[in-house]
Amino acid sequence: MPIRSHAPSAPAAGPTTAPATRRRALAAALALGAGIALATPLTAGTAAAASTTCLNGTLAFDHNDAEAGTHKPLVTQRARNSNWELWGRRTASGQVERLSSGLTGATDGRFSACHTGTAAPRDVHVRFFSSAGTLWRVVGAGTAKQGDPNWKNTTQYTFTTATRNTPAATTDLGTVKVPKAMQQAWKITDTLNQLYGKRGTGSLCWTAHQTSDCDQLTVAWRQDGSSGGYWDHPSFPGDTSDGTDWVVLKADDPDSKHLILHEAGHWFQWQLHNKQWPPVRDCDGHSLDRGASAACGWTEGFANAVAAYALGDSRYTFSTGDSYDLLDQRVVGGWGKGDWVEGRVAAALLELWGPNGPDGGNWNRTLKLMNTYVSADFRQYFTQHRPLAGLPTTGAAKTIINRNTIVY
Ligand SMILES: [Zn+2]
Repeated sequence: MPIRSHAPSAPAAGPTTAPATRRRALAAALALGAGIALATPLTAGTAAAASTTCLNGTLAFDHNDAEAGTHKPLVTQRARNSNWELWGRRTASGQVERLSSGLTGATDGRFSACHTGTAAPRDVHVRFFSSAGTLWRVVGAGTAKQGDPNWKNTTQYTFTTATRNTPAATTDLGTVKVPKAMQQAWKITDTLNQLYGKRGTGSLCWTAHQTSDCDQLTVAWRQDGSSGGYWDHPSFPGDTSDGTDWVVLKADDPDSKHLILHEAGHWFQWQLHNKQWPPVRDCDGHSLDRGASAACGWTEGFANAVAAYALGDSRYTFSTGDSYDLLDQRVVGGWGKGDWVEGRVAAALLELWGPNGPDGGNWNRTLKLMNTYVSADFRQYFTQHRPLAGLPTTGAAKTIINRNTIVY
C-alpha cells in the first residue's frame, strides 16, 4: 500500500455541537512579487495616445459549508488571490492573445483586468485559473483520474467570462461565479490563503528555507476521483506511493476547510523540515480520539493543529459537517489519553500557541524549531527540541500538556 498521510477518522462517539463558524479576514495580504508574475501591459516606443480598457468585477464561488454543520448550507464566498488573464485582440485584425494577467484581491476577490494600447482591444474576455501565482495550484482538470495509471495530471481548472466584442473603457462584469462543476477547485485555492497568510516567515515562499523559486503546493482534486483525502508522501524509505508530494482530494472532501488544511499541513510540515519527514508507522486508519503510534500522533496531531490554527478555531471538521472541538475533549472524556492520540497532541499545540499561551501568542517559534529539528514524536518535540529552541517545558507549558492527558 502507498504510504499516505490521511485525514483522521471520526471518533466512534457522536460529535459535539459545532459552534457557529467564525469567518476570519485574511490575516495578512498575500505578498506579491517573487514567484508571482504580474504583466505590465504598457506599449513602449509609441507617441500615439494610449487607450486603457478594463474589465472589472469580483470572482466568487458557491460551496457547501461543512464548518457550518452537517446540513452544509450552500454559501457564496469571494475567491481571493486567484490568477486571471485578460485575452483579446489588440486591433480589429489582430490575433486573440493574452493582454495582461494578475491576481484577484487578497481580501475581496476583486479584479481589474486592463489593457493599455494605441487602440481599444476587441473581443476580450477574462480567463480564471485555480491557482495563486505560482505558490499553489489545484490540478486534475485533465482526463486522467486519480488512481489511474499515469494519473499525474497538471491541468488546472479554468473558465472564461463571455467575450465582449467592443467593450467600453470601463466594463463592470459584476460578480463572476465559478461554474458549479469546478467550484470546489476554487474553494481549495481560496482556503489555502488561510495557511499562506500564517506561514510565519518574512519570505514570500512557504518557509524560511526558500526566498526565491518557491516550491509550489499542488492539490489534485476531481469530483469523480477514485482516491483522495491524503498527502502523497514523496520520499519515504521503501516508498511505493506515486511520489508526487501532492495533496490528493476527491469528490466532496473540500466541503471541509479543515480537511483541506489538514492535508496541506502535512505538506507544510515536510517543507518546514526542508523536505524531511519523521519515520511514521502504523498510521493507517488513524482517528482523532485514539492512538496508532507515537509518530502518527505527532504528525497527524500537527496537521490537525495546522488546520485549526489557520482557521482561527480549535476544531476539526469532517467533510460530512461533523465537528469536534479539540479543547472540549479535556472535560468531555471518552477519548484516549497520551501523546499517541492525535486529538490530544493537536489540542496541546493549540494551547501552547494560543493568545495567552506560553509560546508568545502564536506558532512562529515552533515553526522555527521545525526548520532545524525533525522531531520523531511529540515527546521529542516537547522534552528535547523545545528546550533547544528556547521554548518552555515547565510552568504553563507543562500544565497545558498535562491537562491534555500528556505526562512526561
Ligand atoms: Zn493526516
